[in-house]
Amino acid sequence: MKKITIAIDGFSSTGKSTLAKQLAKHLGYIYVDTGAMYRAVTLFTMQKGYISNEFFNKETLINSLPLIKLYFQFNADLGFAEMYLNDVNVEKEIRTIEVSNFVSKVAEVSEVRAKLVEQQKEMGRNKAIVMDGRDIGTVVFPDAELKIFMTASAETRAQRRFDELQAKGDSVTYEEVLKNVQDRDYIDTHRDDSPLVIADDAIEIDNSYLSREEQFQAVLELIEEVISN
Ligand code: C5P
Repeated sequence: MKKITIAIDGFSSTGKSTLAKQLAKHLGYIYVDTGAMYRAVTLFTMQKGYISNEFFNKETLINSLPLIKLYFQFNADLGFAEMYLNDVNVEKEIRTIEVSNFVSKVAEVSEVRAKLVEQQKEMGRNKAIVMDGRDIGTVVFPDAELKIFMTASAETRAQRRFDELQAKGDSVTYEEVLKNVQDRDYIDTHRDDSPLVIADDAIEIDNSYLSREEQFQAVLELIEEVISN
């Protein structure tokens, strides 16, 4: 069967990774969560003390980029690949609200983007990949056979992320999560390098009122159409 590249972009907490994982499993494709890569670079930046609420030492981060080794390793028990930063599994640490609060600032740095985009392009060289992020259909794989752009209201997204964090025992408030979602939307859509925009040939899906299964079936139909053409 024809192997294709599937690019899934959209605002934070729109369920991109849930959909991408479902699709990759169904198709036997590789799944790559590019947000995890930006989050891992952010965790490194925090661990080194290059960023805080008061300052961001961008130059030092840029000079340290060669020291950052990122890769994904498949975890058969979980059924997906986990993020490793310099040989340490950081899958849990990168999902905290602290990392979420700094990640968009780190993701604005062009040198960070260049490093990660190069690695992402390499991972997709043989197609048969589902990649999610903010610039996949526009920058990483502008020739992807299928591009999906996912949206939902900020309130719906904040509620989903809040429920997830609470289930993990994270003591955040809904207001804090909503502010984080809105702040990240703003920075992601306004940055100079690779801002979050809808690719001309992307198909937009607003999933505020769609169940996971309805959304999955709708995208599967799109994939079948692309593959059979
Ligand atoms: O997808 P996730 O919400 O985990 O991404 C975290 C952040 O990483 C985003 O808010 C965005 O600032 C950045 N990001 C990006 N480009 C990507 C993926 C994520 O700028 N391809």
